[in-house]
Amino acid sequence: MSSEDLLIFTKSGIYCKIADVYIDPWRPVQRAIITHGHSDHARPGSKSYICHSDSVPILKYRLGKSINIRGESFGNTFSVNGVNFSLYPAGHIIGSAQIRVEYRGEVWVVSGDYKVQHDNVCQPFEPITCNTFITESTFGLPVYQWKPLYETCKNISDWWAENAKQKRPTILTAYSLGKAQNILQNIDKSIGPIYCHGAIQKTNQVLMEAGLFDVKTLEVSENTATDYTNALILTPPSGLNSSWSNKFKHAVTGSASGWMMLRGMRRRRNVDKGFVLSDHADWNGLNTAIKATGASRVIVTHGYQDTYTRYLSEQGYQAQSEKTLFEGEQFAIQNQES
Ligand SMILES: [Zn+2]
Ligand SMILES: [Zn+2]
Repeated sequence: MSSEDLLIFTKSGIYCKIADVYIDPWRPVQRAIITHGHSDHARPGSKSYICHSDSVPILKYRLGKSINIRGESFGNTFSVNGVNFSLYPAGHIIGSAQIRVEYRGEVWVVSGDYKVQHDNVCQPFEPITCNTFITESTFGLPVYQWKPLYETCKNISDWWAENAKQKRPTILTAYSLGKAQNILQNIDKSIGPIYCHGAIQKTNQVLMEAGLFDVKTLEVSENTATDYTNALILTPPSGLNSSWSNKFKHAVTGSASGWMMLRGMRRRRNVDKGFVLSDHADWNGLNTAIKATGASRVIVTHGYQDTYTRYLSEQGYQAQSEKTLFEGEQFAIQNQES
């Protein structure tokens, strides 16, 4: 990249030199603007943080109550050293924002993570016209094609209902911030009680106290007398096949993830059932979103970045791949965030 570029990739993160501001820095910096609350994008140690106001409770919960943080609303412009910044919905998780950076008529947009499907939980992705668009590429291969969300959630509900009929608890893995709320919001809640692992329950609580989420769930307790036979139990992947999950006798297990598109992934995850559900854009979602920005230049970060950069170049974009410490693919495979 040229040092004249409005944003450059440095050892600390995506940097706007004129404003002296970093976006989602992976090292502690003076001033950070954060796209969303996932741990690879919102890291501890920076002197000050700016993010969407819905991300404020999440960052405080994850990075510490005493951080210096300011919330901004969508579409509001704030200037730093003459550079104009504004936030727009990314549709990824609650509070997730794209960062628009404008200086002397030139516009760059940093997407963070995004999806174009509406999830009824966070504000839907909004394409922002720009010259240069910085995109993620977690699912940047044609094999990744999502079904409509309501269809996937209906399949999850039907599976749960069937297990409940056979008096078998249903355990579904979901990342605590994002996927869990997405599933809870969109499944049929009349089938039986819904229990959550403590990590998910606490995240829900933070969001509920902030008025950002409203699905009531029960926390899995140590009380061995609890009847889970018709229950849905949500847990982060780490809770599966652990001493924690031993209390659910004869349980049926499932995983909801974009990676379930890949052959053999269900077996690798050691679950009975896989559902393709993601908080990231699929192949068509990425292409549609990029086209809608009108950008001539696209910088591709975490995911299938080299393959996807090549594809974009063939479509006539000025495309380039940049390394980041966003933990994209591997991170998502391990933590099932995606
Ligand atoms: Zn994310
Ligand atoms: Zn990411």
